[in-house]
Amino acid sequence: MKDLIELDKKHFIHPTSPIQQQQEKGAKVIFEKGEGIYLTDRMGNTFIDAMSSLWNVNIGHGRKELAETAAKQMEKLAFSSTFSTFSHEPAIKLAEKIASITPGHLNAVFFTSGGSESNDSAIKLVRHYWRIQAQPNRRKIISLKRGYHGVAAGSTSATGIPEFWGMAGHMMTDFTHAESPYENNTNQAIDSLRQVIETEGSDKIAAVLVEPVQGAGGVLIPPADYLQEVRDLCNEYGVLLVLDEVITGFGRTGKMFGMENWGVVPDMITFAKGVTSGYFPLGGVVVSDQIHEVLKEKSKGTLFHGFTYSGHPAAAAVALKNIEIIEREDLVENSRQMGSVMLNGFQHVKEDLNIVGDVRAIGLLGAVELVQDPKTNKHFSPDAQVAPKVIEALHERGVICRAVSYGNSDIICFAPPITINENQVNTMVGKLHDSILAVQKQLSV
Ligand code: PLP
Repeated sequence: MKDLIELDKKHFIHPTSPIQQQQEKGAKVIFEKGEGIYLTDRMGNTFIDAMSSLWNVNIGHGRKELAETAAKQMEKLAFSSTFSTFSHEPAIKLAEKIASITPGHLNAVFFTSGGSESNDSAIKLVRHYWRIQAQPNRRKIISLKRGYHGVAAGSTSATGIPEFWGMAGHMMTDFTHAESPYENNTNQAIDSLRQVIETEGSDKIAAVLVEPVQGAGGVLIPPADYLQEVRDLCNEYGVLLVLDEVITGFGRTGKMFGMENWGVVPDMITFAKGVTSGYFPLGGVVVSDQIHEVLKEKSKGTLFHGFTYSGHPAAAAVALKNIEIIEREDLVENSRQMGSVMLNGFQHVKEDLNIVGDVRAIGLLGAVELVQDPKTNKHFSPDAQVAPKVIEALHERGVICRAVSYGNSDIICFAPPITINENQVNTMVGKLHDSILAVQKQLSV
């Protein structure tokens, strides 16, 4: 058999990849196996998966129960349609389960295959909601700078990281971005949101779409009062609030959903990733009773929106089992407790080293910022490539992690499986310490 690296170079276009570098060097790691918080490559090297791969393998790798559940469902009914008036038990039970674990009036679920499809669906659903309410001009979606919502047409446009707009040439119309609460206090960020609403015209706004914690923007945890103020502002202008819980859902932040940290209930949420811990592609939108009623009463004819795999039976069965495991093993509480062990560790790393700025975590969603001067928060020049160097040093020490280097910030993100134990957290943080120290020495700071 030809070498996998050569075949990968020749035939595989990787998502979000340095495509030129891949072409020259090929895949850096070819994973073969996963067990708990660990991934093993084909050479037998084992790594801590400190990002739960793509913030999604919440219950950890290698869970036989999920494989068995998928196999059993596939043997019984691998696929059947949920279009129109067709249905099946796994999708019905999953919709009911999700309604029961989401707070307040969020009780009806539309299924998709992932986060981007979920956000595009939410965007279409809010526009449809306003159209059937005789307010078709309410089309605009306001999201936040540094927000990430996916790569489909609508979700790319809602994303507030300009690099993602490049490939499509330009953003779609009717999307606009307000300031993130990152590097702004609540008043500044809320003022910015109000200004965008006023400038665009409040009667043209369909919804505000935000992540409870901006993930890909660098794990940006908002000030305590921010999300409630966003909710109040939406109420003031009669605008719908959609929370993107794609990363923050299913125990990641020490609560089942991120919004519960602030007691804020939106009109819709979008979810994906942790709903199946990545064992099967699945996502969705949960809408409020009020929106559901309007959709049922006023949508004339067919709701022309649905994916072949909306509510895939095997995916739904896996999601149900995954949620059962999260509840049975009390993993939301483990995320909360291990999150504070991780944050404590980050604080020690900061005290011990010269180039660590802000450190933060909410549950097992955390970040460590690297700065030239922690006292003034002066950033490194992007040319210094500090965050990528730390990621490389972590890799050499057996930790797979992710850097965010937008603008001039160097942020190392952490989102390990929520099954992680105290020893494993301490090992991971110890390797972070050693990696930053090694880069700090190179920089001679
Ligand atoms: N929303 C958020 C907050 C995300 O972090 C992501 C992916 O990282 C998405 C949406 C897109 O999800 P997917 O990659 O499953 O389409």
